[in-house]
Amino acid sequence: MKDTLRHAGKRKQLVDVLIQKGIKDKAVLSAINTIPRHLFMDSSFEDHAYQDKAFPIAADQTISQPYTVAFQTELLEVEKNYKVLEIGTGSGYQTAVLCELGVKVYSIERQRELYKKTKAFLSKLGYRPKYLSFGDGYKGLEEYAPYDGIIVTAGAPYVPNPLLSQLKVGGRLVIPVGTDQQIMTLFIRKSEKEFEKHEFGEFRFVPLLEDKN
Ligand code: SAH
Repeated sequence: MKDTLRHAGKRKQLVDVLIQKGIKDKAVLSAINTIPRHLFMDSSFEDHAYQDKAFPIAADQTISQPYTVAFQTELLEVEKNYKVLEIGTGSGYQTAVLCELGVKVYSIERQRELYKKTKAFLSKLGYRPKYLSFGDGYKGLEEYAPYDGIIVTAGAPYVPNPLLSQLKVGGRLVIPVGTDQQIMTLFIRKSEKEFEKHEFGEFRFVPLLEDKN
């Protein structure tokens, strides 16, 4: 599959839909306008790649809905050269969005098949995350902590403590919390011990799974 003018036209329409739904961050919209989302999914979904929908990828997982990716990324409020940890690399689409924003991305995936496939794929597309890790996101990635931002792209039944403790003071954790459906939650680390918590709307993610490695 290639990226063509037809795809670019559809991307522009998707960006318009996201603007209508309330996404304002210009850098986020520009990243979505740039990234060939159709290449991140199975070719059988190519015609639908620029609809604002989640789709199945390998290993029973999904590529998140573009609105969700945009909403979470907007909440992270990243700046160039920020250090961001992503939990749930999946297709690598969210990773690519962060790379487009000039962020140093660290990302963890617990399914080996996806980890390997996405690592090769991102490199082929020319995206260079700092580090892709095969492991358990509940533990975060202590070696490279602290982070300016942490984004969890699977539904967490509770907020894992290591993720809070691996944030810089001033850093932001964006995490969908819940089992059947999730409340998008933002934690801002105000000091060593204090966190401010903000809740947003309901979303639906595949579950953040524990201890299966
Ligand atoms: N960011 C991805 C979303 C993929 S869906 C994208 O843009 O496509 C969520 C991903 O989280 C899945 O790939 C799933 O395998 C992964 N995941 C689930 N539990 C995890 C855990 N404990 N640690 C790391 N990744 C996990």
